[in-house]
Amino acid sequence: MIPQVAIVRCPDYQQPTVDQAVRESIDLLGGMGQFVQPGQKVLLRVNLLSATPPERGIVTHPAVVEAMVRLVQETGGIPLIADSPGASVPYTEAGLRRAYEASGLLAVAERTGAALNWDTSYEQVSHPEGFLVKRLEVIKPVLKADVVISMPKLKTHVLTTFTGATKVLFGVVPGIAKAVFHARMRNVTNFALMLLDIISLVKPALVLMDAIVGMEGDGPSTGPLRDVGVILASPDSVALDAVATSIVGLDPLKVPTLREAAARGLWTGKVDDVVTLGASISEVFVPDFRPLSATPREDVTLGHPLLDRLVGPFVTEHFTLKPVPQRGRCVACGDCVAGCPQQAIAIVDSLAVIDYSQCIRCHCCHELCTEGAIDLERSWLGGLVQRVSGGRW
Ligand code: SF4
Ligand code: SF4
Repeated sequence: MIPQVAIVRCPDYQQPTVDQAVRESIDLLGGMGQFVQPGQKVLLRVNLLSATPPERGIVTHPAVVEAMVRLVQETGGIPLIADSPGASVPYTEAGLRRAYEASGLLAVAERTGAALNWDTSYEQVSHPEGFLVKRLEVIKPVLKADVVISMPKLKTHVLTTFTGATKVLFGVVPGIAKAVFHARMRNVTNFALMLLDIISLVKPALVLMDAIVGMEGDGPSTGPLRDVGVILASPDSVALDAVATSIVGLDPLKVPTLREAAARGLWTGKVDDVVTLGASISEVFVPDFRPLSATPREDVTLGHPLLDRLVGPFVTEHFTLKPVPQRGRCVACGDCVAGCPQQAIAIVDSLAVIDYSQCIRCHCCHELCTEGAIDLERSWLGGLVQRVSGGRW
């Protein structure tokens, strides 16, 4: 089937404007009846990375969630809003309450009557068709849902280059189990394959992306916000991300999930082969969107595994970004300590301190620090090579 992605302009988060854009995007795909039947339990899988207000641009905006809740209810579906947030928010009832309150989702639930997920249980499921991951733990509400609607936000990501539809479903993995995957999947290609496995397991019926305000630079928590001004919708996670990255001028094939999806025949690798409905990519193109400040970790290779192993520490030191907590900004909250898959961080004298001999440069700490207290720094040699290579490295 030819993949289709609806693109609808939406300049701001005023509720009537968002309601109209979300409705129009789903109508372009044939209407909500294509995805939800009366009486079905519909899980809205939002991006709830941290307990932060929507103005920070980290979480799926509540106005977008509210618009989707109302469409599901109109169709006769029973919406449940859910996510297992990042490690800065424990996957407990108290942690979820903090995240729902801060993100505005508690208010959405009160206004619409939609349920919020409080069930923090999970189950190990087998996935024989997975490329790489044949078994994984998944939060129970996902397994109980009749339909999953994925609701990512358009952001860059220091590990996976871009976080959209192909990354957001990592949130179906419960709390701390995410850190285990980070530790196991040190190679970004493997991490991308794991994300594709999660998509093929969860099989979201529909993806609706909040790309009204996106995040550029070194996302997904502390990059600068950027007006993108669109809502995107598609039943196809890969096609949607291919279109989303193209709108902001990123090469889809430089995004590990999209590159691996193309290699496995999940799309052709050419965005021209995706049919856009509504606006075109060129009509909503965002010029000068800032990409990551450095190449993600996996691209740093000398081309031979033995060579890579021998000089790995040198390469890591000079050709990956080093997370460096900053005194003055660090409030010693301990979120990065809890989220580090290598247990490489400790709080010493009211400052997060990293044991770099254990650090695998996954940048989870940078992702989780909502204070923006962890800078990603280059070595002098890395900076020199970047200048000489014209920014390719
Ligand atoms: S760097 Fe400091 S402020 Fe940031 S998550 Fe770690 S402890 Fe908290
Ligand atoms: S210190 Fe940061 S980058 Fe290093 S392993 Fe821990 S979370 Fe990952």
